[in-house]
Amino acid sequence: MPVAVRTEPPIGTVVPEEVAQRVTQSFRGGPTTTPAAGPRPSPVPTPLPMAAGHRLLIYKQDPSVAELGIRTVFVQSTILNGPADTRIRTELPGVTPVGRNIDGDFIFPPNSPQFDCAHTFAVVRETLSMYERHNGGRPLPFAWNSGSNTDPITVFPRAGIDANAFYSRTAKALKFFSFTPPGASRPVMTNNSFDVVTHEMAHAILDGIKPGWIGTVDNPPQTGGLHEAFGDLTAIFMTLSQADQAEAFVAATKADLHATSFLPAMGEEFGAAFGLPFGLRNADNDLRLSDVGNEVHDISQVFTGGVYDILADVFAFELSRQRQVKSPTQILMEVASSLCKLLFDAIVASPRTGATYADVVGQLVRKSAERDDPPIYRTCILNRFAVREVVEPPVSLDELMSGNMDMANPHYTGGGDAKRIPEVRPADEKSASLRAVQDRSGCCGTMQMPEFRVVPADRLATRGPLTDEDILAAELAELRESFGKLDQNR
Ligand SMILES: [Zn+2]
Repeated sequence: MPVAVRTEPPIGTVVPEEVAQRVTQSFRGGPTTTPAAGPRPSPVPTPLPMAAGHRLLIYKQDPSVAELGIRTVFVQSTILNGPADTRIRTELPGVTPVGRNIDGDFIFPPNSPQFDCAHTFAVVRETLSMYERHNGGRPLPFAWNSGSNTDPITVFPRAGIDANAFYSRTAKALKFFSFTPPGASRPVMTNNSFDVVTHEMAHAILDGIKPGWIGTVDNPPQTGGLHEAFGDLTAIFMTLSQADQAEAFVAATKADLHATSFLPAMGEEFGAAFGLPFGLRNADNDLRLSDVGNEVHDISQVFTGGVYDILADVFAFELSRQRQVKSPTQILMEVASSLCKLLFDAIVASPRTGATYADVVGQLVRKSAERDDPPIYRTCILNRFAVREVVEPPVSLDELMSGNMDMANPHYTGGGDAKRIPEVRPADEKSASLRAVQDRSGCCGTMQMPEFRVVPADRLATRGPLTDEDILAAELAELRESFGKLDQNR
């Protein structure tokens, strides 16, 4: 495939040396202010945090997104040299384990391999922590975890040369590669992309929650679409869980989620390298199921776009309701967190294999009612997915299509019964996205892994390690049958 190369903005991690030095210097050693001379009053005890934590530096978005740069994250759990903790290890031969400084922090100059280790670990850790909070603070297992297996996931920030990044269950790993597009002077490091790292970690997390969803065998294209969409939506929810990014987004767009911005664009740098103007995919799209066939990456954008529209609708409603008492940034962060939790709960409640968009939309509606969201939340969920031809419209969509939704009214239903939870049915049972085999040619590296293309959904749904024998099981069975016939003919 010919690859169009975009040279502006520059490709690759570009952090000027003087900035890199200044950033790292500010964290090194000693107090930043000189204590005043004179007698010290006897100190009054102050409450201290329950546990110590560590500071790590991360790239906020892709390095190619000009307005955003590097920031510190504070992780309040124990991180060992590696960086490593009970759930996540980091592996870069010749570099790891990367050590903490005297303050217990992982602070390194940007562009260095040590920075990449700390950054990738931090983003993976934060992604897992976000969903564990939505899980009531309980740990979320990886697909191989059980009472007798607490193996962590291993993160490879610089796994080699390839235009790829993936999660593998057999390897219990996340691998991030780098590549230099033709004509470019610097490589694209996939681990430097906040979107790519959160997307791939989301595959690992969803595989732990619903191990039966990731394979192509016995699952319709929509189940694959849920996996890809979960990755992209996780990147958006992670971005909006960080106050400085949410603030930058609100300011850049004047609180309009449909204005052009960095938020709905995924993997900008990765996309720029392939000549795609909106990154690898665009969450703020208008795709309907009839616009896509059975290609899973395209299908995923229908679901991602639906949830993004709901985020915009609910934000508009809550902004009108709470603008006198909260800042737009605070409202946006709360709405995004609440929608992320709703999606998480809906996925947990969906079928163990073969889940469809209508299954998850039905659970979104049910869970929203169970937690007493205003009826307008359900109206937005159903309307947006009805427009995208995912579910049957419960009421006429005339008001939505003519822009007449009463977005300030918490009881708005567009003509439906606010007290009744409507039946959610797929709009088109014959859609290729429900019946065809999965075409994953446009998906990320995870979805292309052989282990997810040959192992039956029921086997994948069984918690525990996945081995090469599982991948070869069907072929081995064929061989045994064939060799058995030889025995009979002897
Ligand atoms: Zn993916």
